[in-house]
Amino acid sequence: MFRTLLIVAAIAVAVLLVRRLLATRPPREDKPPRVQQGRDMVRCAHCGLHIPANTAVHAGGKTYCSDEHRRLDQPGGED
Ligand SMILES: [Zn+2]
Repeated sequence: MFRTLLIVAAIAVAVLLVRRLLATRPPREDKPPRVQQGRDMVRCAHCGLHIPANTAVHAGGKTYCSDEHRRLDQPGGED
């Protein structure tokens, strides 16, 4: 009788330990690296195209989508 109680108690403790281990384990989330969102967009002063700020060409306080548009928009740029 006592032996049976001991076995039941041992199983109960084992179950509790396993459940605690499972509960404390951090959830596995194999998410892909987050895509950068909300990146600043700027408008080309020449053609009006919106482009990411890190790819924009800056000149004279204006932003351009390409070096060609910067050249075309600058005074005396058209040769
Ligand atoms: Zn442009």
